[in-house]
Amino acid sequence: MADYQDRYPTNAPGAFYVDEQCIDCDMCRLNAPQFFARDDEGAHSYVHRQPTLEEEIALCREAVEECPVEAIGCDGEDVEIDGKNRSRPANSVRQ
Ligand code: SF4
Repeated sequence: MADYQDRYPTNAPGAFYVDEQCIDCDMCRLNAPQFFARDDEGAHSYVHRQPTLEEEIALCREAVEECPVEAIGCDGEDVEIDGKNRSRPANSVRQ
């Protein structure tokens, strides 16, 4: 199970994140390159863009399920933009 406290700082702020358990297997990046990228220096994945649409969230949820070491979490914090909290949409990804 991914731990929000162990997430990489390169993750885009939001619900989805990759934590330090990532073994750089490439699966999330192959299946959802719109949201997952590789940190070449650290040799791990990170979320470079948070999903917003329902189908995008579903794709990232699949990535959570498929990660072989459970390094992807979806219980991150809500995003703050310009000092205002932007609550998650109705289809919240928090579990
Ligand atoms: S699927 Fe999991 S272990 Fe593989 S690169 Fe993505 S976050 Fe890392």
